[in-house]
Amino acid sequence: MEYNSCGILLTENCNAKCKMCCDSRGRVIGKTLSKEELKLILDNIKECETIDVVGITGGEPMLYPELIEYIFNYDYGRNVGFTIKTNGFWGSDKDKAKKFISRYKTKLKNLSFSYDEFHSEFIQLKNILNIIEIADDLEVNTEIVGCFLQNSVSPGDIINQLGNYAYKTNFAYQPTIRTGAAKTSFKNSQFLKIFDLTKHEPKCAGVIGKTILINPRLEIYPCCSQVIENTILLMGNLAENRLIDVMDNIKYNKVLYTIFTQGFTPFLKFLHNNNIEYPLKLTSTCELCEFLFCDDWFLKLLKEKNYFENI
Ligand code: SF4
Ligand code: SF4
Repeated sequence: MEYNSCGILLTENCNAKCKMCCDSRGRVIGKTLSKEELKLILDNIKECETIDVVGITGGEPMLYPELIEYIFNYDYGRNVGFTIKTNGFWGSDKDKAKKFISRYKTKLKNLSFSYDEFHSEFIQLKNILNIIEIADDLEVNTEIVGCFLQNSVSPGDIINQLGNYAYKTNFAYQPTIRTGAAKTSFKNSQFLKIFDLTKHEPKCAGVIGKTILINPRLEIYPCCSQVIENTILLMGNLAENRLIDVMDNIKYNKVLYTIFTQGFTPFLKFLHNNNIEYPLKLTSTCELCEFLFCDDWFLKLLKEKNYFENI
């Protein structure tokens, strides 16, 4: 399975501080890629010809429009499309937003806004709606992605807030994953555990549209899940490795190959056979990755029991 998409986590900084943020980012405390580091990333992406989508995320990437324009204007030697994941704060300046979207409308495949009860503390919905209106006029796709908890604001509440704008954008909703800041912000009982391992087959959530992730420390992770930076599944660093080699190594990594092709069933059977308890109710199968790879306990166990040699 090839990667056709690369996520660039442009910055850890953000002008919001959402209670459910996967990395408790918030208010200019983290690292942002420099132009030199960004060039290194883009040179590597250029070399990986299967990649035809670059997803820009953060933190809040639109705090650094000049870096985004650098990514858009880089010569990849082939057609590459772009997505941006943003909280939409920049819609407060309609003229500037219009100029930006008009200039890059042929390159922009999707603008994805995070909006829910957590983001609404910091971002006015009006700003997002301004951008949706402009993008709709210019035929650029948009979506709103919201995270939800038990007995709280519901997806329907957010759609109601969108009013007629709901017809101009897509809307996706997901349970808030218990990772990062959400781990300490909420009680366990507040999470919507929609995934029941006694009933549902635990497949990897990121198999469709596989995306490799590079963060501001040039670290390379095998997917773009909210949990992935909270695991030990660090596959390389662009300061030392080429992206093309790391992608190749991932293909031959037995643990990841198992997860990508068979999901978690073989590993859960292995835990069961070794009398090790694991969570049966989850918000997402990504929580299994955080459970298994929060540190190296599971890898040590696989080694100790000669797991791969015995199958
Ligand atoms: S969830 Fe998004 S908008 Fe909120 S603090 Fe984290 S990066 Fe910023
Ligand atoms: S299940 Fe694991 S490998 Fe798959 S997308 Fe989630 S965190 Fe990534």
